[in-house]
Amino acid sequence: MSLTKPLQPYAVTTSRVLYWFNRTNRIIFNYEVPKPRSIIFTERGISMWGACYPSESKSGPMWWDLKVMRTFPTFVSFIECLTHEMVHAHCYWYATEEFIQPGHRGHGKTFFGWRPRLAEYGIHLSGRMLSPEKSKSNTEMMKIKLS
Ligand SMILES: [Zn+2]
Repeated sequence: MSLTKPLQPYAVTTSRVLYWFNRTNRIIFNYEVPKPRSIIFTERGISMWGACYPSESKSGPMWWDLKVMRTFPTFVSFIECLTHEMVHAHCYWYATEEFIQPGHRGHGKTFFGWRPRLAEYGIHLSGRMLSPEKSKSNTEMMKIKLS
């Protein structure tokens, strides 16, 4: 089953983030992505759609905070951003050493190893979460499969 949503702005709320986090975690990630410690909203105008802020401590407890915009240009761009940050969190959790390597900002071999898996569901995994103005997602990606 395909899930088609109209090409209109998608307002993000905590409950929507949690709903889609849980749903994609079940369908795509086999429940392997740890829940974010906090969900932090940002206003439009920032250069990035979202971010994964990990604890980056080798001794203390591990956690990650999810940062997302309050409004996305489309539903699909929200899902693309959410799953992108979830891949980061997964890499951080299970491939910590590679994740914290300086230089590649988390977009390494392990990260892109998820590209085929996400593509199965119609989700494009990009190395850069561009600002909405620069993204092609709002016109190119209308369908995702997350039944
Ligand atoms: Zn990234």
